[in-house]
Amino acid sequence: NSRRCLNTAATNQWRQTIAEKNPTINALVCSTPPPDAPLCHGPLAGVAVAVKDNIATYDSPTTCSSLMLDGFTSPFDATAVKLLREAGADIIGKANCDEFGMGSLNKYSHHGPTINPYEHPSGQTEKRYPGGSSGGSAAAVASGVCQVALGTDTGGSVRLPASYCGVSGLKPSYGLISRWGVISYADSLDCVGVLAKTVHDIRRTFEVIATYDARDPTSANTNARTRSSEAVEARLTRWTSDRKAGKPLHNIRVGIPQEFFPSELSSSIINPVRNVIRSLRDQGASIVPVSLPSTSFALSSYYVLASAEASSNLARYDGIQYGCHVRPPLGSDITKTSKNYALSRTKGFGPEVKRRILLGTYALTADAFDNYFLQAQRVRQHVRDDFNRIFSLPNFYFMDPVSQQQHQHSADQVDILIHSSAIRTAPPIDDVDENKDDDLSSYVQDVLTVPASLAGIPALSVPVPKRFLDPQGDGWPIGVSVVGQWGSDELVMRVGKIVE
Ligand code: GLN
Repeated sequence: NSRRCLNTAATNQWRQTIAEKNPTINALVCSTPPPDAPLCHGPLAGVAVAVKDNIATYDSPTTCSSLMLDGFTSPFDATAVKLLREAGADIIGKANCDEFGMGSLNKYSHHGPTINPYEHPSGQTEKRYPGGSSGGSAAAVASGVCQVALGTDTGGSVRLPASYCGVSGLKPSYGLISRWGVISYADSLDCVGVLAKTVHDIRRTFEVIATYDARDPTSANTNARTRSSEAVEARLTRWTSDRKAGKPLHNIRVGIPQEFFPSELSSSIINPVRNVIRSLRDQGASIVPVSLPSTSFALSSYYVLASAEASSNLARYDGIQYGCHVRPPLGSDITKTSKNYALSRTKGFGPEVKRRILLGTYALTADAFDNYFLQAQRVRQHVRDDFNRIFSLPNFYFMDPVSQQQHQHSADQVDILIHSSAIRTAPPIDDVDENKDDDLSSYVQDVLTVPASLAGIPALSVPVPKRFLDPQGDGWPIGVSVVGQWGSDELVMRVGKIVE
């Protein structure tokens, strides 16, 4: 299994690149010293990996880019990080992100925003956001500071920055990669994701970290993994045995979900995606228009559920056990825990996190619970049902065994879906008012990514090849998403590789 030996010169080379490039883009919030011994063994020997700042590493701080966790170092590695180290990867540092993963721009970070490192073909030097919340991970990959990065994707945080920075990013099926050691934002949605310049690098990293972990109660069990991979394998065998020369996608059914192509989407976004679809058709794929009617409610459902879970998760930052602690002023009754709590949280959390806590706490109050939280859960089930109806494979994680057996095959079902990853290219930094904290427009950027998150299914964003971009567009990258049934990550990556 041993590949290229990552010798001292190579490990130092990565650190040299960080020193050169990071000061202008702020992608990494800390870098780790080179490993003591050369990394020679394992499937990822020679691969430099940056890890998002909300994934625990024992040898460097994990702050979720929040003042609340300033200086906090975990006593252990997250399972995903441990597996990477065992596979010979060189963990080079921690990547900037929106505080606790909440945001779509990488604007809300205690370490300051990350700058999109994309080199515009015209040489223009306009500063743009990298997207969020895993903006540091995407920018680190795009600028060549590392080869692979781990991010987390709760509602689009890997796919959106991948799209804005011109790299690839996979949000795997929920439960395939352990969340042990990943600081929770919204547990029912959080996934560890992988970013790299090539689908090949994403796949080999995914293969190392996608294993069952008893320490994550939502880790997909062996039964679900085996059954879905057998079903996907059978599908892949039928596909490859039927292959025709020059038609690598012969026999693959690609769904085009009409709700993901709203009329408001500008032609400079739609045209490149259409070009990709056309090229898939030319390579033998059958293009099938499909409808996912619950899509229009997905965004509102997501923000209610994600905020509700966040408000509960973030209650642990009380300024007492760990994290930012503010002493009540002299003379006040310091035995009053509520005082400590309020002062510490007021200082420790940034504006976006506070907004989510308020929103989520409200959705969970007795008065609002039925109208907000329960409705959002119902919408979530509709979104799942929509996907289950159109995919030819059953869902081996979220469907009960009886429904799996009853999963009806019909002629209009598809293997994968294709749509644009984002509604626009990277937003210029000047466009977004730094001081305007009530700006909800950034929530809209997730409109195309949250449905797959609510359904827990795999989605891979791949940059649209340059030749397909619209000459009328602004020359910044656009991502196209390949989405599949739960457990179809391999299929999604195979198709993604053909797109790239
Ligand atoms: N932008 C979304 C949010 O702020 C998604 C974030 C994420 O996926 N971590 O909730």
